[in-house]
Amino acid sequence: MRYAVLGTGVVGRTIAARLTSLGHEVALGTRTPEATLGRAEPDAYGNPPVAQWLEEHDQVQLLAFAEAAAFGDAVVNTTAGAASLQALEAAGRDNLAGKTLIDIANPLDFSQGMPPSLNPVDTDSLGEQIQRSFPEARVVKTLNTMNARIMVEPSRVAGTHNVFLSGDDGDAKKAVTDLLVSFGWPVHDIIDLGDITTARGTEMLLPIWLRLWGTLGHADFNFHIQGARATS
Ligand code: NAP
Repeated sequence: MRYAVLGTGVVGRTIAARLTSLGHEVALGTRTPEATLGRAEPDAYGNPPVAQWLEEHDQVQLLAFAEAAAFGDAVVNTTAGAASLQALEAAGRDNLAGKTLIDIANPLDFSQGMPPSLNPVDTDSLGEQIQRSFPEARVVKTLNTMNARIMVEPSRVAGTHNVFLSGDDGDAKKAVTDLLVSFGWPVHDIIDLGDITTARGTEMLLPIWLRLWGTLGHADFNFHIQGARATS
């Protein structure tokens, strides 16, 4: 299958690498490929320049958001949450129409410093904003409640732990469930919370996730909902 992974940060790269390892074709989407390839320094999080990463992952092609989205049978949003609507607008609504749009972004607002706040929050979510803005896309919010490495290698965390799904389209959620299983998620650890409004809850896990990260001093942890199996 062909995937467009929109976003060149650690999440986009991690998902792209995992998808290619599973035999999928992947286009990584960015604003301006020439500018992205021209960056010589590590990014703000210390990740190596995209050009260097692409040399090590030569099955992945770097394209502008619109070309990447046109390439993909499905699209993954791994852009900065505050810029996701803009990035998806650049991807083009026609290129998103009818496709499963896996949204991993969190609407973190760093404008007032650390820790970031959420915007939107409580009565709305980025997942809902994306679904409202692109009604012909089939948005599924998932994987946003854990570190990127755990998304594609859940066995990094010992024992049972969970990943959530939110979305309005049952077929899209089934397709994403199959993808998560191919990443290594036991199907009974995938919790379908319901429609896209439930993305409010998973996005609002971010404040406690960030505090746990600070307290524990590492990111190899995840949420385990005790009793979840009994209700599934
Ligand atoms: P990031 O640094 O948050 O985002 C990088 C991407 O955002 C780049 O592709 C960049 O485009 C794009 N972008 C930034 N400003 C933009 C703008 N004004 N217009 C259009 N695009 C813009 O990357 P990340 O750390 O990999 O995180 C990606 C998303 O996943 C975030 O929403 C984050 O909250 C969420 N998330 C992260 C983790 C994690 O482990 N880091 C875990 C769960 C969820 P260019 O390529 O053109 O620079």
